[in-house]
Amino acid sequence: MSSLQVDVLAYEAPCEQCSFPLWWVFGLLPSYRPSGEEFTTTDFPEAVAMARSILATPNGDTADIAAQLHDRPAWQRGRSFNPNRCSACGHHADWHVLDAIFTRVYHHEGWIYAAAGRVPVPEWRAIRGRGQGIYWPYC
Ligand SMILES: [Zn+2]
Repeated sequence: MSSLQVDVLAYEAPCEQCSFPLWWVFGLLPSYRPSGEEFTTTDFPEAVAMARSILATPNGDTADIAAQLHDRPAWQRGRSFNPNRCSACGHHADWHVLDAIFTRVYHHEGWIYAAAGRVPVPEWRAIRGRGQGIYWPYC
């Protein structure tokens, strides 16, 4: 099966409860020649799972970031979900904190390429551009 390399994008900001500097995972984007509409926010289960599997690859040092990503609880409704939990204190900030990070990234305040990994093309096609449907302006 053909595959492509996908980047996991994160933004460093403190936990609102304990001030631990967290890497907030917010999106996925192909590593090579991406187009803006492929940007995929990590606020729905399939994207969270893909980000987690890329971050958890054995040759990386991002397994702790993978472990801080949590699935949306079954009882939660609506589109907006923040999968990041603080790895120091376990605090689970709500969607608004992740939304504020999108705003900062959009004002060119920088982001981190947390990890990259290969995923099957059909898996990527099934989720690309989903989530908040935000166009990535930096391609
Ligand atoms: Zn914390």
